[in-house]
Amino acid sequence: MDLGIGGKKALVCASSRGLGRGCAEALAAEGVNLVMNARSEGPLMDAANAIADLYGVTVTPVAADITSEEGRAKVLAEATDVDILVNNAGGPPPGMWHDWDREDFIRALDANMLTPIALMKALLPGMIEKGWGRVVNITSQSVKSPIAQLGLSNSARAGLTGYVAGTSRQVAPMGVVINNLLPGIHATDRAVSLDTGVAEAQGITMEEAKKQRAATIPTRRYGTAEEFGAACAFLCSDKAGFIIGQNISLDGGSFNATI
Ligand code: NAD
Repeated sequence: MDLGIGGKKALVCASSRGLGRGCAEALAAEGVNLVMNARSEGPLMDAANAIADLYGVTVTPVAADITSEEGRAKVLAEATDVDILVNNAGGPPPGMWHDWDREDFIRALDANMLTPIALMKALLPGMIEKGWGRVVNITSQSVKSPIAQLGLSNSARAGLTGYVAGTSRQVAPMGVVINNLLPGIHATDRAVSLDTGVAEAQGITMEEAKKQRAATIPTRRYGTAEEFGAACAFLCSDKAGFIIGQNISLDGGSFNATI
């Protein structure tokens, strides 16, 4: 299927590794030129060069912390005219409900709610002017089904989800499509760190920890960044114009619901 986005330009945040990288690769495979972002310059340059070489698209890397105002300004300087925005950043740390103070919440809200909102506010006007735009926010399965120890993430991502629910309907008449992708467990560095925690806590091997977690998923395996990227590219495509304000689970069937 031709997704109809060859020659468009996308900003993919937090994309040197993992799910963001999967999205960047899938868009590049469709001929989309990229602004890629991550915090560390070396891995970002490696990823940008690899993608530009493989897919023959233009890739502009911007090393910056996307959750800081300064970092966003640096990224936006290269991305004012984008047609597609993929919002992503690292998730907040785990803990217990009584662990977090106001400052912890402010940090989590800044990273996982107010950063994607700031980027949408900066880039939606350009998309509206063109009469075409796509936004995908990488959130989490925790939006539908709380992960108890990730209270900061549950809270911040719920806030973003509420904002998108209304905003997506306000910009849809102007040809701009906003949706959220909700990852369940995917085989990225984050899954490695989660499994390391389980292995250490239970005194089992990494392989056992992974097998144990996979057994809880109907697919009996983790998702891949490639699968995630393909779904993202479809939501960014010309074919996705009637999908508005949805929260789409990519979790191997983990969220147990009829509808
Ligand atoms: P990852 O650790 O594999 O990759 C994170 C990427 O984001 C890297 O490129 C890193 O450089 C970049 N990054 C992190 N913080 C950044 C910042 N402040 N500014 C710029 N770049 C930054 O993570 P992932 O598994 O790809 O996860 C992506 C998002 O999806 C996270 O918010 C995570 O919480 C969420 N998520 C992941 C899973 C999973 O199983 N992998 C499940 C649910 C939710």
